[in-house]
Amino acid sequence: MKHLPTYADLTSRLRFSPEQGRIWRDSERCVLLSNSALTMLRNAMVVQLGLASARQLFWELGFAEGARCAVEAKNLRPNRDFLEAFSVGPQAHALTGFGWTEIETLDSDLASGHFEGRFLVHDSIEAGIHLATEGISADPVCWLQTGFASGFASTFAGQSIIMREIECQGMGDPVCVLHAKPESEWSGIVSHSVV
Ligand SMILES: [Zn+2]
Repeated sequence: MKHLPTYADLTSRLRFSPEQGRIWRDSERCVLLSNSALTMLRNAMVVQLGLASARQLFWELGFAEGARCAVEAKNLRPNRDFLEAFSVGPQAHALTGFGWTEIETLDSDLASGHFEGRFLVHDSIEAGIHLATEGISADPVCWLQTGFASGFASTFAGQSIIMREIECQGMGDPVCVLHAKPESEWSGIVSHSVV
């Protein structure tokens, strides 16, 4: 396992201003969303849009957030090595409460386009929501998480990197396992949303 930096530089970016009714992450305003609200939103999206469209919507939401995070990462740890700079993604994801990540392997050569990694995500809130409302799933259920990871890695690496969830707590596995490779190296992918 790779050893991650402390969270101090990430947590110092958060600021609570309850007198103004605001929470800030640097200069961007944020809100807290409860597990109950996220459950309601996710279930309503599945009912109203259908499973495939709901999954796609959450994946794209995660992808956009991950891409934004990667831009911030370049400024946050500009002179650190690749692993420490890349760790901003999984650590920022943990800071938002979606679960915490261990980097099992990460091997990248940005000049040649090589990128491969395995990430273990523990205590995924999306898996927890699915298990509580639907029970064990036949397919991976962490749509926002895989979108975030793919958006972060793609923007950070400057090429399309897709993270597929090959094991998922929502399927009864002990942890969620994300496997990252360039999109061109995945066979049979017809859409970013395929997990
Ligand atoms: Zn999962």
